[in-house]
Amino acid sequence: MTRVIAVTNQKGGVGKTTTSVNLAAGLAQSGMRVLLVDVDKRALKTSVYQVLLGLATAESARQRSEAGGYDLIPANRDLAGAEVELVDLDHREARLKGALKPIADQYDFILLDCPPALNLLTVNALVAAHAVMIPMQCEYYALEGLSDLVQTIKKVRAHLNPGLEIEGLLRTMYDPRNTLAQQVSAQLLEHFGGKVYRTVIPRNVRLAEAPSFGVPALRFDKSSKGAQAYLALAGEMLNRAGG
Ligand code: ADP
Ligand code: MG
Repeated sequence: MTRVIAVTNQKGGVGKTTTSVNLAAGLAQSGMRVLLVDVDKRALKTSVYQVLLGLATAESARQRSEAGGYDLIPANRDLAGAEVELVDLDHREARLKGALKPIADQYDFILLDCPPALNLLTVNALVAAHAVMIPMQCEYYALEGLSDLVQTIKKVRAHLNPGLEIEGLLRTMYDPRNTLAQQVSAQLLEHFGGKVYRTVIPRNVRLAEAPSFGVPALRFDKSSKGAQAYLALAGEMLNRAGG
């Protein structure tokens, strides 16, 4: 059974891409077949853009990330324009879901790395997904931002994807010595309880160093705290799914 997970938070810089890349590598390391789809824009030649507009199949657009042990459908700058072009298409919210369908059963996990906005691209990811993973930093206004996202998830559930679940909330760039981080983390556990992953991603220079999309820390420093944290997250997810 394939599990499609949208890695979403409308705030930029919270660790969505870092989580997508390193979790994909962690799951692959655990023997899972993984596809990572970059729904955020980046400077690459082939793109999820053509896939969304029906100009290319997902199969033809995917590449292999040898470094990560997973397959990848990258994005490029055109994707920013795709939002506008999608508006005129039929089933504009379900383009990604439709495009992934022919290859979905080749994977155990499909991770959708979302842009930092609650736009049509994010909605496409939320419609294609079984569940949402929310990376977040434990800082001021994190919970306010979360409630906007939860509202969006509720709307998508009501109108477009009734089965959409919250897979889990992931505390990223966590500094246990920071009092505010501790407080926000405690509130998060109070409100969302078991939905908060026990695994916490620490602030770790190895994760920040990953030079570009597609190079997970597991690849160049497996023993680093960052790589180990994402490996632990993959393990926690697989345990949850199994039990
Ligand atoms: P998003 O995709 O949500 O915009 P990114 O994953 O691109 O966020 O992360 C934003 C920045 O923070 C990047 O420069 C990244 O390298 C850095 N970063 C992410 N997670 C960590 C971490 N756990 N420790 C240190 N730096 C991190
Ligand atoms: Mg990103």
